[in-house]
Amino acid sequence: MYFTELNLNKTILKALTEEGYTTPTPIQQKTIPLVLENKDVIASAQTGTGKTAAFALPIIEKLIWKQNAPKKSKKIKALIVSPTRELALQIQNNFKTYAKYTNLRSTVIFGGTSIEPQQDILKKGVDILIATPGRLLDLHKRELLNLTKVRTLVLDEADLMLDMGFIDDVKKIARLCPKDKQTLLFSATMPDKIVKLANTLLNNPEKVEV
Ligand code: AMP
Repeated sequence: MYFTELNLNKTILKALTEEGYTTPTPIQQKTIPLVLENKDVIASAQTGTGKTAAFALPIIEKLIWKQNAPKKSKKIKALIVSPTRELALQIQNNFKTYAKYTNLRSTVIFGGTSIEPQQDILKKGVDILIATPGRLLDLHKRELLNLTKVRTLVLDEADLMLDMGFIDDVKKIARLCPKDKQTLLFSATMPDKIVKLANTLLNNPEKVEV
């Protein structure tokens, strides 16, 4: 199978070609069509399987169509929650690469660094936000962040988020987004706690394993 068979915009395909991607990995083959169909997805996948592109590419695809709308909203339309700053930065790099021929704006926010520059970028408006849970809730509490237009929420490395004690934060974040959003949960392992979390947060999810 080739990326050209996945119904992705030519601007995305151009970026992928430049990166030397030709064939989607198994997780990408299974997940991309489901995300494009607006399904909720629970996917068990390790780092290194190409899981980031599995959610990033269809998110970009769906937003490319939205950005042609007459009135472009400044509010966040896709939110990716990541347990660590390192992972968040990596995800942001991937979004930047795949969306480089679009005019979608993405940014990353995480704790342990000053809040003002993040605040300034958010004020200008972003389409895609990648964030760690604590800083995200902090910015929301200060009313610097609006999640009312989020269409897709991604919980990446959900097992790690539970291990790090972020479960209540993650639930709170999900509640701040609209009820009818799409939710995608990625986890390297699937302990009972993750299945329970998925049952509370996801709506009739499709299961993907690789
Ligand atoms: P991830 O599992 O998302 O951390 O991705 C692991 C690495 O594989 C990253 O460096 C990606 O840039 C790369 N990658 C992801 N998908 C593909 C693909 N379909 N073809 C080639 N490389 C890929």
